[in-house]
Amino acid sequence: MVPAIDRYQKLAQRLTAAARRYARSDDEVQLLAVSKRQSIDAIKRVAAYGQRKFGENYLQEAETKIAALATLGLEWHFIGQLQSNKTRAVATLFDWVHSVDRLKTAQRLNDQRPDLATRLNVCVEVNISGESGKGGVAVNEVPSFIDSLVSLPRLQVRGLMALPAPESDFERQRRSFRRLFEIFREIDYPAFDTLSMGTSNDFEAAIAEGATIVRIGTALFGPRE
Ligand SMILES: *Cc1c(COP(=O)(O)O)cnc(C)c1O
Repeated sequence: MVPAIDRYQKLAQRLTAAARRYARSDDEVQLLAVSKRQSIDAIKRVAAYGQRKFGENYLQEAETKIAALATLGLEWHFIGQLQSNKTRAVATLFDWVHSVDRLKTAQRLNDQRPDLATRLNVCVEVNISGESGKGGVAVNEVPSFIDSLVSLPRLQVRGLMALPAPESDFERQRRSFRRLFEIFREIDYPAFDTLSMGTSNDFEAAIAEGATIVRIGTALFGPRE
């Protein structure tokens, strides 16, 4: 088994190298450690290296982890499919939601965000590959969808997120991410500064095309349970 510190350092080197290669500054690309189906101990190890941002997909699993790790002051990002009966817990426990794709769930997150908390940061998930049966707002509906979100006072609309169809060819990976960047570039709101794209398989292509958050699980933690 590869020791966790080696994986973390190797990933950090790849992130820095990709940022250099594509003329991005080091602090422009943030790492979101995707910890779904990883243990609490594994998260503690990665947090001990200085990692603060963690991403979770499943609410029940996340609730246990967030409670167990409350003293570490971590920042939690919800990146999974969001069901409307789960919005209250998500609005309470998380700092960010990357997967907003329906107005109804956005309104619930807004209404249920606790008064004492800061605004909930949200990204709009875009169905960038046009896959049927997959979450995400259709490409041509993104601007009007965002217009309907910005009036929700307890949300801060931060940017766009996508998980393109799996693709091994680097240039094709770049093409999907470039489409998301083109949409992102056309949208002009205060604090609209986040492009959440790229996973273990394709984060270098995402960095080449302007990612500001890469969401990485297996390349950081090793295989999931
Ligand atoms: C699981 C997941 C990731 C991380 O995938 P890896 O291949 O483990 O890096 C990123 N984004 C989303 C939305 C995920 O569900």
